[in-house]
Amino acid sequence: MTERPHQLAMLGGPRAVPPETAVPRWPVITPEDEEAVARVLAGGRLTATAEGEEEVPGLEREWAAYTGTAHCAAVGSGTAALQLALAAIGVGPGDEVVVPSVSMNATALAVLQQGARPVFADIDPETYTLDPEAVRAVAGPRTKALLPVHLHGLPADMDALRAVADGLGAVVVEDAAQSHGASYRGRRTGALGTVGCFSMHPSKNLPTCGEGGLLTTDDPEIHERVLRLRQFGEDPRPRATRSYVSHTPGWNHRIGPLEAAFARSQLTRLDAYGARREPGIRAFLGRLAALPGLRVPVVPEGSVHAWHILRFRLDAPALGLAEQDAAALRRALHRALRAEGVPVSRYQEAPLPAHPAFAPYVPDGARFPVADAVLADSLCLQRRQLDPDSGPVLAAYADGFEKVWENLDLIRRMVRSAPAPRARREVAAA
Ligand SMILES: *Cc1c(COP(=O)(O)O)cnc(C)c1O
Repeated sequence: MTERPHQLAMLGGPRAVPPETAVPRWPVITPEDEEAVARVLAGGRLTATAEGEEEVPGLEREWAAYTGTAHCAAVGSGTAALQLALAAIGVGPGDEVVVPSVSMNATALAVLQQGARPVFADIDPETYTLDPEAVRAVAGPRTKALLPVHLHGLPADMDALRAVADGLGAVVVEDAAQSHGASYRGRRTGALGTVGCFSMHPSKNLPTCGEGGLLTTDDPEIHERVLRLRQFGEDPRPRATRSYVSHTPGWNHRIGPLEAAFARSQLTRLDAYGARREPGIRAFLGRLAALPGLRVPVVPEGSVHAWHILRFRLDAPALGLAEQDAAALRRALHRALRAEGVPVSRYQEAPLPAHPAFAPYVPDGARFPVADAVLADSLCLQRRQLDPDSGPVLAAYADGFEKVWENLDLIRRMVRSAPAPRARREVAAA
């Protein structure tokens, strides 16, 4: 006789992750971070343009050194970094920029805001990053740039993408918002394209205490244009008195010294945190990889993953269900895992081409089968795994997954008895 499975929390059993388990923190804020911010407040230099302000240039120097690039500009957000990058390379009306079918909305919004057209290309089913072959299929003479996203912290297939870009005479701009510290063939993200764009939103791997972004490049002219565009199109060179003369249409996309000081303090721990979280994440992924029908993140040879988000794909046929049960299986496991205290969530409910803001730019009949499948059949873990001390909590999450997998018969019954999505919508509308 086989042992009876432990009763699911969803059905009244005890949670696999005990309710008293400490919730992992992110960002981790230390007294040093607090002191860095307090020093700025006490010094009274509250904007980047205050005389003698050193936090923003300090952060820029340190991030350029960290990424191995010649120049860095700190800006107001990751979205601002993307906008400034596209503006600085001259993307405008009539141009097309190839964007992956799965990303945060900001990736494609930055293209629209330049008056250019986002052209969506499907992602790779294992790495979830832009598929170079899909790019080749949609790119053309109007393609001004490729905008690969190092999604979830894994560098995109940059050699192949650069080859496609070179063939088109297009520029590669990296959306590295999720990939601080990740690398590809020995080079850090941000140094892999012509321009790199990072976010320092508190949810990201290098957090600030508000909003912030970073832009990296080796090209001095692009850097100069970014500095101009960041501040009202003014001449960015320091001078005794600011002229306030706009030489080109620009924005106010500056970052403040408080955010810069906090980020500099965080940056001193970025690598140490990465190294400390690695064993716990590896152990967690190792246990999950042993579960049938569950695919854990892959790391291609030569890449270092920053583990910003962990995505798990569910293979319905491997679990004895039909292909078209993928979404129902995901919903059932989502419910069961959350009841056990495993905070899985969806990262992106819809592929970018399905957002109403972008749909008008999608050619009739264009399909993104990988994006559709991945978003239907996967669940993610976000933020919790970033705490450098999350190892024990991740082990408890693995207990939760294993317990749910002991109860797969029940999960299968739930899936088979779930109403079809169309019927569900009709019920909801009635
Ligand atoms: C977070 C994020 C952005 C936007 O960064 P903000 O700082 O929030 O403006 C852009 N692209 C991707 C892939 C992101 O994850």
